[in-house]
Order: sequence, then structure tokens, then C-alpha cells
Amino acid sequence: MAINWTEAQIEEVVASVIKNLKTEVGNTSTAWDSKQYGGRKLIGIYEDMNDAITAATAGYKAVRAMSLVEREKIISAIRDLCRKEAPIMAELGVSETKMGRVAHKTAKHILVADKTPGTADIVSQAKTGDFGLTLTEMAPFGVVGSITPSTNPSETVICNSIGMIAAGNGVVFNPHPNAIATSNYAIDLVNRASAMAGGPKVLVASVVKPTLETAQIMYKHANIRLLVCTGGPGVVKSVLSSGKKAIGAGAGNPPVIVDDTADIKKAAKDIIDGCSFDNNLPCIAEKEVFAFKNIADELIDGMQENGAYKITASQAEALAKIVLVDVKNPKTGIVKKTVSRDCVGRDAAVLLEKIGVKVGSDIRCIICETNFDHPFVQHELMMPILPIVRVKDIDEAIDLAVKAEHGCRHTAHMHSKNIDHLTRFARAVETTIFVKNAPSYAGIGFGGEGHTTFTIAGPTGEGLTSARSFTRYRRCVMVDNFRII
Ligand code: NAD
Repeated sequence: MAINWTEAQIEEVVASVIKNLKTEVGNTSTAWDSKQYGGRKLIGIYEDMNDAITAATAGYKAVRAMSLVEREKIISAIRDLCRKEAPIMAELGVSETKMGRVAHKTAKHILVADKTPGTADIVSQAKTGDFGLTLTEMAPFGVVGSITPSTNPSETVICNSIGMIAAGNGVVFNPHPNAIATSNYAIDLVNRASAMAGGPKVLVASVVKPTLETAQIMYKHANIRLLVCTGGPGVVKSVLSSGKKAIGAGAGNPPVIVDDTADIKKAAKDIIDGCSFDNNLPCIAEKEVFAFKNIADELIDGMQENGAYKITASQAEALAKIVLVDVKNPKTGIVKKTVSRDCVGRDAAVLLEKIGVKVGSDIRCIICETNFDHPFVQHELMMPILPIVRVKDIDEAIDLAVKAEHGCRHTAHMHSKNIDHLTRFARAVETTIFVKNAPSYAGIGFGGEGHTTFTIAGPTGEGLTSARSFTRYRRCVMVDNFRII
């Protein structure tokens, strides 16, 4: 199934499925039980992390014994179920975390089903010469320990499962506690798909109540050979300090530059489309804009024509006091401004209401003009609030945008037709993803070329992860033979 659904089509599908679900999801106590859903026991969910690892180890052994065709059959079943149950997971995710938008989460699941690479991503290399043949194969690590976020919970579980299983691994998850019902629903989905396709009943596993302690058990367990962490700076640091091979997909703060050669109307629409997608939860989404001052007014007008609501400087100050709160580090006693969990991923209308502004559901993003030092520019808000900073030229734009990205080297965007400007910014910012003249989500294959992932590993260098990221290279040498020329 191709991903060329219109917003209206998605809304229609979602509305019809949700109509049937309303009585089941969110309105019953069982909906929040991470062991069962609507009275049905979820498969592969354990009280004890050690039991989950034992189950994932058995899953790994089963995958090892499969042919590639059998593995691909399971992956195909995961894709089918993911497409079919995308609206359920989207609704569950929004109901449980109170973050994001059902239509967009539905689209994200369909993207994962369609564009996450399977076994075709695993390719062997052969080198032949006077001394014969040397073969390099991408082999599984074993059991992978995967930490997943609250922002794209089931999307990450399914995307990682497809890639990790395609590579021949088993997987145990320690999902985000705030999205545990949604994440465990997705883990159960992978196991149902496995059973339907003739695979083991429990292929991947998780725990009922993930904590920092269960994560530590995972880090230290002898069977876990690779850790893959998708989350903020704290958790990425903790896996990278584990002493095990780890893939870290961390935070970003993607800047956007708009220069005076850009198609300003298109830039305005693209930026609002990207920034408001799933209420700005994707780590790749536009977080702050640096606009040439000679086009800034036109850009802001264009944004307002596309569902943005402009607030004044004093309203921005009032909103900043609500969305950023002081949090004291219990160990150091240092107080730091931190995004309020009550505001992350909320609708623009909900955020505006907090400062006494009532708007309709057509408003999908809040914009405001700020200076560079404003907290909206400096913090990764993950909510549909977009600060716009006027700049005099490309030198200032690049300088400030690189600083606002804080060296995360995650994602950056630019709207321009000047190839020198585009090239200069891409070189200066050094991000894993650089999107030119399109909404941010084009960078993960949504309306752009290339595969998708929800685990973008900047800190450890794998980039947009796929099956091959979860493999280790093994060499097999045959001397003097098997060169046939
Ligand atoms: P988070 O950092 O709050 O939590 C991520 C996971 O780590 C959760 O499962 C949490 O329980 C766990 N965790 C937190 N601290 C831990 C520790 N010390 N030890 C073990 N586990 C720990 O993430 P979130 O708020 O759900 O996600 C948002 C953050 O993740 C943002 O910064 C976003 O940019 C980033 N993110 C990055 C990517 C990427 O691909 N690079 C994708 C999604 C999210």
C-alpha cells in the first residue's frame, strides 16, 4: 500500500475505526492494563525483566533457525497487522499519553508498515582475488535490548521489531512507562503476526512495569548483546555508559532557515505542515525558524494562512512560563528549565487556552517572533509552538541555526533555491538529516525518497537505522578456491 493518502482520507478511516472502538479504548479500566487489551491477554508481556529476556532469547533461537523466506513471511504479517490496526494504536497512543494527533499517528504507523526495510536490507559482500574468496556477512547480535520513547511508542516498537528480526535478532523492550499500554499492544501485535505466519508464539517480549531498575537488568544481562536506545539525552547517556555495544538515538532541536530565494508561500505551508505533524512530537520536526528579514512578513502571513496563530511577545512570555518549568536535580540541587510534560504534544488550541486565548480546531500551530535567546528557540519543546527569528543574511542565519541545534547533529531544514546557501548550511550544521524545500517528515520517507525509521542514531553514527544497523560483520575466508575467473 502506497503512502499517498490525503489528510481527509486518513481522517475518514480513523473516524470509522474509532467509532467502533470508543467503547473499548480509554473508557474501560482494561484499556490501561499493559498485560491485556479489551479483556484479551497480551502476548509476550512479563512481570519480571529476567523472564522477558528468557522469552526473547527463545525468540532469537527460533529466528536463527528460520530461513530468510520464513523471516520475511513474519515481517510481511507484521506489516499487514500494523496497517490494519494503525488507527487502534494511534487512538491508544493519544488516549494514554495525551500527546499527538490520531490521524497523524495513524499515518506514522502506515509509514512504518510500508517503508521499514526488511531482510532485503541485509546484503553480503564478496571480495575475490589471487588468494581466493573472502565473504563478509551481516550477522545478528543475538538478543537486542530496546528502550523506546513516549513520543512515537508503538511506531518505534514495530519499526525496531521489523529491522531487528530481519537482521536475525531477538528483541526485549523496556518501553517508556508513560506509553506502556500502547507499546505493549504493539509488542503483542508483533507476536500475533509471528504466530499467524507460522513463527513462535512469543517472538519479542516486554515487561508489565518498566522502570530504571528493569532497564539496568537489561543492561547487565549476559544474553543482551546490543542495546538500542531511542529517547532524550539522559537515557542515551545511560546506555552509552553501560559497557555494552549501544546504538543511541537522541534528542534534537531542528532549526529551519528560510532565505529570500525560497518559494515563500510553499515554505510557509511546508513548515507548518511539518511543525504541526503529530503536534511536533517527531524529533525531526521543525522547532525554530531563522527567516531573512526581507521575507519574514510574507512568511509569517503565509503561515497564518495555513493554520498558524500568531501570539504577541507578552503572550509568548506568559506561555513560556507555563510550558517550561523549573526542575531541581535531586543529586546536584541545580534548578533547570525543563519542558512541562503536561504541555508536550498537546494541541495548539489547548496550549493557547492556558493563556486565555480561545481558537478553533483549524489552528494547528502557534507562532511568535522572538530573539535568539528566547527559551522557545533554545529548548526542544516538542509541542506546536514555533518561534521565528529575523536574520539579516545567510551568515547570521547559519551561525544562529547551528548554535540553536546545540551540536545534537540530528536534523536541520532549509527553504532556498540558492545552492550555495543550501550547501553552506548543510556543511556547517552536520546533521544526520537535512531536508531541503519540504516538510520535515520528507526526511523519514514521508513524501520523500528513502526508507523510514523512528530511531535516528546521530550520537553513535548509524544514522537512519534499518536492519543492517542491528548486525555485526563476520568474515569467512576461502584461500585459493572459489575465484572462478
Ligand atoms: P525520555 O528520554 O523521557 O525516555 C526514553 C526512555 O528512556 C523511556 O523508556 C524512559 O523510561 C527511559 N529512561 C529515561 N531515563 C533513563 C535512564 N537513566 N536509564 C534507563 N532508562 C531511562 O524520552 P521521551 O520523552 O519519551 O522522548 C522524547 C525524547 O526522545 C526527545 O528528546 C526526542 O528528541 C528523543 N527522540 C529521539 C529520537 C531519535 O530517533 N533520535 C526518536 C524519538 C525521540
